[in-house]
Amino acid sequence: MNEHQDSSVIIVGGGPCGLMLAIELGRRGTSTILLEERATPSRFPSANATQARTMEHYRRLGIAEKVRAEGLPPDYPTDIAYFTRYTKHELARFGLPSARAAREIVKTLLGSWSAAELPHRVSQIYVEDVLRAEAAAIPQVTLRPGWRMVAIRDTGDGVEVDAEPSLGGGRVTLRAAYAVGADGGSSPTRKSLGYNYFGERGVVRDFMGGRMFAIHFRSPALYGVLPHPRAWMYWTVNRDRRAFMAAVNGIDQFTFHTQLKPDQRPEDISDAQAKAMFHEAFAAPLDIEIIGRSTWNAGYTLVADKFQRGRIFLGGDAVHLFTPTGGLGYNTAVEDAVNLGWKLAAVLKGWGGPALLDSYETERQAIAMRNTMYARRFADSVGLFVPPPELEDDGPAGDAARKKTGEHFNTHARFEFNIPGITFGGRYDTSPIIVSDGTKPPVDQPNVYVSTACPGGRAPHLWLGDGRSLYDALGSEFTLLQLGANPPDAEAFRAAAQAMNMPLSVVPIAGDEARELYEADLALIRPDQIVAWRGNSAADAAAVLRKVVGYG
Ligand SMILES: Cc1cc2nc3c(=O)[nH]c(=O)nc-3n(C[C@H](O)[C@H](O)[C@H](O)COP(=O)(O)OP(=O)(O)OC[C@H]3O[C@@H](n4cnc5c(N)ncnc54)[C@H](O)[C@@H]3O)c2cc1C
Repeated sequence: MNEHQDSSVIIVGGGPCGLMLAIELGRRGTSTILLEERATPSRFPSANATQARTMEHYRRLGIAEKVRAEGLPPDYPTDIAYFTRYTKHELARFGLPSARAAREIVKTLLGSWSAAELPHRVSQIYVEDVLRAEAAAIPQVTLRPGWRMVAIRDTGDGVEVDAEPSLGGGRVTLRAAYAVGADGGSSPTRKSLGYNYFGERGVVRDFMGGRMFAIHFRSPALYGVLPHPRAWMYWTVNRDRRAFMAAVNGIDQFTFHTQLKPDQRPEDISDAQAKAMFHEAFAAPLDIEIIGRSTWNAGYTLVADKFQRGRIFLGGDAVHLFTPTGGLGYNTAVEDAVNLGWKLAAVLKGWGGPALLDSYETERQAIAMRNTMYARRFADSVGLFVPPPELEDDGPAGDAARKKTGEHFNTHARFEFNIPGITFGGRYDTSPIIVSDGTKPPVDQPNVYVSTACPGGRAPHLWLGDGRSLYDALGSEFTLLQLGANPPDAEAFRAAAQAMNMPLSVVPIAGDEARELYEADLALIRPDQIVAWRGNSAADAAAVLRKVVGYG
């Protein structure tokens, strides 16, 4: 860090993207200041799903167990269920394991779900609490809640960020080598760079396309009144109040989201009207206490035209806005932070080359376009379904309508909520820091993941004989896997890495299983667990390492 700088990196925004980035940087010894305009964190639960890939990153950082302990009680099922109204007919259900069961089941799964971690259904507020505490405990990270960025400048050899206390007070100018705007959908950083989103906004659907209204409420009696088995996510399908409700703590807290009619304005909705909307979906008397309310827009498929200018980067909602179907916004934001974190730290430490930082936009913009497109398909699948008029009728016509609707949502639930292909299958094939071996990756599919060590994708996972995940054996930066019984000597890689001051762990994994999975004797794994190169000879070690850290 230069003596005129306050830190190496300044992050604007302390949501999941900013906090994760602070941890990635801080754990690598990179001094980081994080400005967050809120003096106290939002307590309104928004995201509900932490995808398996995000959990694998939390595991890499040693915090997966802390996150999995949050939210619903350990034995609470994470089913997704569909009803006409919550106390009336159940139409469809996708049963999913509790947090306790997920820990055990993951060790037995093969194929698409061969993974170190399964998803965890937990409210974003609890995840952020864990991330914030982790970031705060790192000596190199300074969290500054209650500080708003008001101007940001790239000075050529660094950045300047003007900040002031959100509650009033004197303005300060902070200096760093790099800055990152992780400041959400209305991103003042993105706006100051003059970048826009492109894509689709204002899509209108029967549901999940329009202005949404949400309440966070407490009701200790709800589970006693509900005549159906417990679920994590409850949806209603009927002709006058479509909604979804997520269990927040599995005891007495829930969020309820419904779509407003085009002429309804959220600020005009009284608490009594909000409760009436809930009761329309619940269809039985129940006392509820509103804790908070919120509005949001469904129908966005937006990606920013640029993710970087000079020394200023953007991540998270600042560069992509989703309809939350599929639960991908926060998860994509976390992966942005993972991708950018090691690259910034590598450049600051001197082993990252000139092309390394530019690869962030190439890699992450493609993923943002892919993931927002998937979310849009899920929104169409749920939101364009028009409930039949007889759906709530007694008698054969009603039965038939419910059967047909149930079939649709049984299929839909598995389409939207069983997504190993999306979570594990994101790839960086066009990246300048991936060394292609000429093989073609499997076709990208949302619900199927085909494990492949074709460079550019997630390192294939397996459980080692000692019960550890392969990922637990990887080093914290680059790792060279020596696979199988007789792998080539790794000395050329060691020597080349040493000459570049690049941290490299060499990890032998004996046995045929790993060798067969990777289809090579050697595989180079990036700090974000992406395969950067694979091969059967170490002859090109120096050229390979130069390319994967942005020198070639
Ligand atoms: C109803 C709903 C359900 C959702 N469900 C899911 C889900 O299940 N899974 C999923 O992956 N995603 C989901 N999402 C999306 C998810 O909530 C967001 O994608 C996620 O919060 C983005 O994180 P972020 O860090 O990029 O931005 P944010 O969480 O928006 O954080 C940005 C932060 O920047 C701060 N900030 C802004 N301006 C300044 C400034 N000038 N100075 C300092 N600080 C500033 C803000 O106060 C804020 O704390 C859902 C969203 C909604 C609305």
